[in-house]
Amino acid sequence: MKKCFVCGHETINHGFTNKILEDNGHFIIVKDVPCLICANCGEIYFETDVILKLENILNRNVSELEIISYRQVA
Ligand SMILES: [Zn+2]
Repeated sequence: MKKCFVCGHETINHGFTNKILEDNGHFIIVKDVPCLICANCGEIYFETDVILKLENILNRNVSELEIISYRQVA
């Protein structure tokens, strides 16, 4: 991506964040998810392949609460 959709700033840094997924009362906390962070407003974006992997995690059979590291599933 070339610029932030929220503020229009053109510096987007690569970084890591934690993401909470929720599906039917099941919560999955995924740590260290690679993301893009706007240098100006801090808005966080995920690249398409990361979004697809997060969706795959949701499709797994999980207990009510699970905490995993993105590296375990990537
Ligand atoms: Zn921004």
